Amino acid sequence: MSAFNVIMALSGAADIDVTEAEPLRRHTTYRIGGPAALFLTCHSYHGLRRAVEILEHEHMEWVILGKGSNLLVSDEGYDGAVITLGREFSRFVTDPEACTISAGAGALLSRVVNEAYTRGLTGLEACVGIPGTLGGAVSMNAGSRDEWIGARVDEIRVFSPAERRLKRYGYEDITWGYRQTSIPRGEIVLEAKLHLEPEDKAAINARMEKSLARRRRTQPVGAPSCGSVFRNPAGMHVGKMIEDCGLKGFSIGGAQVSPVHANFIVNTGNARAEDVVRVIQHVHATVREAYGVELQPEVKFLGF
Ligand SMILES: Cc1cc2nc3c(=O)[nH]c(=O)nc-3n(C[C@H](O)[C@H](O)[C@H](O)COP(=O)(O)OP(=O)(O)OC[C@H]3O[C@@H](n4cnc5c(N)ncnc54)[C@H](O)[C@@H]3O)c2cc1C
Repeated sequence: MSAFNVIMALSGAADIDVTEAEPLRRHTTYRIGGPAALFLTCHSYHGLRRAVEILEHEHMEWVILGKGSNLLVSDEGYDGAVITLGREFSRFVTDPEACTISAGAGALLSRVVNEAYTRGLTGLEACVGIPGTLGGAVSMNAGSRDEWIGARVDEIRVFSPAERRLKRYGYEDITWGYRQTSIPRGEIVLEAKLHLEPEDKAAINARMEKSLARRRRTQPVGAPSCGSVFRNPAGMHVGKMIEDCGLKGFSIGGAQVSPVHANFIVNTGNARAEDVVRVIQHVHATVREAYGVELQPEVKFLGF
């Protein structure tokens, strides 16, 4: 593996920005994380494909990143390449007749949600207030407890590095579960087409406001975090379980179980990834002791 070889091979590529030793705390909502050996922003499909082919040729590990809103990166960083989707992947096209929005995976989810509202299209209100990109949302099947973005997906387009080609999946080709999908590991979501329904804008707005107000009331909005740390075990409410263990406010270093919502572990200022991991381990062990339940993380880990 050689970052130098990758940089040389990519030199002159106008549609790829390359940075060495890029601090990943700049690219995560936790504001935590050491450097990535290489940080590539690919502005076109051509650039993305070329970057992945070169990385694989050089046996350099890589990962795709949205806005890092569901990610904990280690303090040592990631000894590989982090790829993000740039310009060409931020576009979206709305078809008001068909009630669809087709958007690039790099588009901010908030922009897609807002576009739906502006066009009087309902179906994405459960996604209001969720940070990140459309690609991240689709691959995580983001949403609320009972409504997921997957239910709105007509089709997605992905790049499969293993098969070296573009692929299309319809809604029914994918299993959409709670914060998970069957999209094969390593495939990169490039675009999604969402189907919505026409609705009075005032009614959409009222639902969005209600959802936002609930967030502001129940979540530590504004404090750096990754959202929910653990998945809800079937039929249980993990935030309540952690709270009932008396762990609200528990902290190690700069990482704290939020006093507002016990399933959020916030960075109170100078948290290291190690602090967050130790709090996660403590919460996990305490809940196992109290309930006999092995909590599963919703947050993804990089560089551990
Ligand atoms: C304050 C706060 C509130 C949140 N509330 C919610 C909520 O209510 N509901 C909810 O579901 N989530 C919530 N989250 C978590 C997070 O915002 C979502 O999981 C979001 O969809 C992640 O998008 P992202 O672009 O940041 O992805 P990232 O965090 O960058 O990546 C997440 C995963 O998706 C993969 N990925 C990203 N883009 C692509 C792509 N184009 N192709 C293939 N794989 C890709 C990454 O490799 C990684 O494994 C919250 C987070 C925060 C900080």
